Amino acid sequence: MEMTSLADLLDVQDLDLQIDRLLARRQSLPELDAYKDAHEREQELTAEIMTAAGELKTLELEFDKSEGELQILEAKLTEHETRLFAGGMSARETEHMRLEVQSLHGQQEALEERVLAMLERLDPAREHVAGLEARREATIQEKAGHETSIKSEWKLIDAELARKEERKAEALVPVPPDLVEMYETLRRSKEGVAIGRFEHGVCGGCHMTLSPAEQNEAFQADIPRCVHCRRILVA
Ligand SMILES: [Zn+2]
Repeated sequence: MEMTSLADLLDVQDLDLQIDRLLARRQSLPELDAYKDAHEREQELTAEIMTAAGELKTLELEFDKSEGELQILEAKLTEHETRLFAGGMSARETEHMRLEVQSLHGQQEALEERVLAMLERLDPAREHVAGLEARREATIQEKAGHETSIKSEWKLIDAELARKEERKAEALVPVPPDLVEMYETLRRSKEGVAIGRFEHGVCGGCHMTLSPAEQNEAFQADIPRCVHCRRILVA
């Protein structure tokens, strides 16, 4: 094996490690967490709005219905009272009508109280829905801000990645394919470091010392490899 190929492979690994770091940074931008956080809050608010808007709708329908009932009741009262004032009924009829009017007045009072109570609940319910909608709108804006940041960061990282990939492809040209294959396989099982510089009797991959006998054994092979970690060694 030509030593220059191994030296080229060392360059490839250096680039691969830089690529790994860029990819890790791409996936761990703080804005990504912030975006996820905002997205979850938006979904929670959407659910809250649905519940609150549903409750408001029910309240509004109840209010309209009670108001309608009140109108009918008031019309009936007016009619009865008009007849009472007009007179011309028998004493029994008059007494019956008087009691009826009294009862209607009672019903009217109770219904008015209910309508008023509902009216008092309506405004806070509308404000609650509006408040939630404002919070959701702010969250959507916040999300959009994070999205813009993420996109511009990714653009920079991707441009840097493309440069590194290009340089890696150039560095790989002189390296024999079987060596590249061994390198890729080792990289997968050795936390990204497949090849190490051998300096002062120490493996640059696992940092363990090789005895003179082990060094002889390692460097007699076509592709020198550390006896401890099996990484490729470059003298
Ligand atoms: Zn080693």
